[in-house]
Amino acid sequence: MIRFTMMPGQDGDCLLLEYGDDTFVRRILVDGGRAGTYPLIKPVLAGLDGLVDVLVVTHVDQDHILGVLALLNDPERSVEIGDVWFNGFDHLLDAEGFGAQDGEKLTSALLAQKVPWNDAFGGRGAEVGRQLGWFDDGSTMEVLSPDRRQLERLAPVWVKECAAHGLIPGRDPDEPPAVPGFEHFGGAVDVERLAATPFKADTSPTNVTSIGLLFEFEDRRIVLTGDADDRRLVESIRPRAEAAGGRLHVDVLKVAHHGSGRNLSNELLGLLDCDRYLISTSGARHDHPDDIAMSRILRHGGARKEIVFNYRDRAALWDVTSLKNRFGYTVTAPEPDAQDGLVTFEL
Ligand SMILES: [Zn+2]
Repeated sequence: MIRFTMMPGQDGDCLLLEYGDDTFVRRILVDGGRAGTYPLIKPVLAGLDGLVDVLVVTHVDQDHILGVLALLNDPERSVEIGDVWFNGFDHLLDAEGFGAQDGEKLTSALLAQKVPWNDAFGGRGAEVGRQLGWFDDGSTMEVLSPDRRQLERLAPVWVKECAAHGLIPGRDPDEPPAVPGFEHFGGAVDVERLAATPFKADTSPTNVTSIGLLFEFEDRRIVLTGDADDRRLVESIRPRAEAAGGRLHVDVLKVAHHGSGRNLSNELLGLLDCDRYLISTSGARHDHPDDIAMSRILRHGGARKEIVFNYRDRAALWDVTSLKNRFGYTVTAPEPDAQDGLVTFEL
């Protein structure tokens, strides 16, 4: 059994991966969304028998980390946390041991509460090439991003911004402006032209440090990305795709950076044979997903695919019969009478 739940992360991510069989269940929580996410996910967490086995905090941006802080700071928290995967300041420079940085709130909370932190990596950074200790339960977990160079590049930014503000404000300075004038309803989006737009990579120093993961269980594969760097993902996935004859079959791809056009290339899509693309965003702040990224998925994401949105109005933009017929996809979103932001499916 694998059950995947997209939760109301607003413009960020908050994802729950549960897997197991008759004898065990494990829970992996990936990011916490915004502070407003936490009250909405409390009932879900309360149903987890008191334990989140691994909490992955993909990177430091607020749309991923604020809900985690709310969780850790809740005195009535219903779950213990087996291990937190998070690259703090000392991991950026691969320093030995830990030192709390003034004002770095998650670091402080983890240290104060003595929550296990990167235990799976021997206390060192979660990064490509690092030995990863994982459960002996028939599943595998591999790190696809970030790499050492990407972590080291964040260090000077962290020093400058964290010292003053406690957190790096979640922002995307290089985010392209929304392309004006497209009429989604009626299928007038020029998918072919948008999909062929030359790829320009995300340059955010925080996004590229996102922990990206490849999870496998019972012959199912899930790729988790946070807001990861497309180039890094291509580099990690290419050898796996080549070993698989050209394309790596994956059941689920959590599209990086909420469907930004700067985090999803046709090259990456071409390395994957993917059944389901997850778009995690309410569209707040950056109007994600971008038409360019969506057009690339439609055009290069395979002949038959499902696109799962956790917010209904994002789904509505692409739930267009003419497009669905032409590009071979279905749209899944929360039911009209269900809570917006929350979608669950089983693999
Ligand atoms: Zn984000």
